[in-house]
Amino acid sequence: MQSTLQLAEKHARSAGATSISRICLRVGAVSGVVPEALEFAFGVLKKRTLAESASLHIERVPSDFRCSDCGRVARLREIRFDCPECHGLLIVGAGGNDLELSHLQID
Ligand SMILES: [Zn+2]
Repeated sequence: MQSTLQLAEKHARSAGATSISRICLRVGAVSGVVPEALEFAFGVLKKRTLAESASLHIERVPSDFRCSDCGRVARLREIRFDCPECHGLLIVGAGGNDLELSHLQID
């Protein structure tokens, strides 16, 4: 969350903004991130940053999981540990982003 906030500030500064009013995040299913925990961290970390009065919007997006047994890739919204195809063990596929800044509203 801290690095995301720093990134948001960097974007806002380079755009000449004095404050951030809204931050939208995409959180992949793969990350296991709990939105409530993110919101709490945001509330603590945003103090004395450009995002001090910003609201946080969290969008959950599906992530790709690759099965370690049959190689099938499944796009899932929630983490599950068995393959829908062969019921083998699903592992995380490459390229699944866990936390991503998707949109920034600045003043
Ligand atoms: Zn499988």
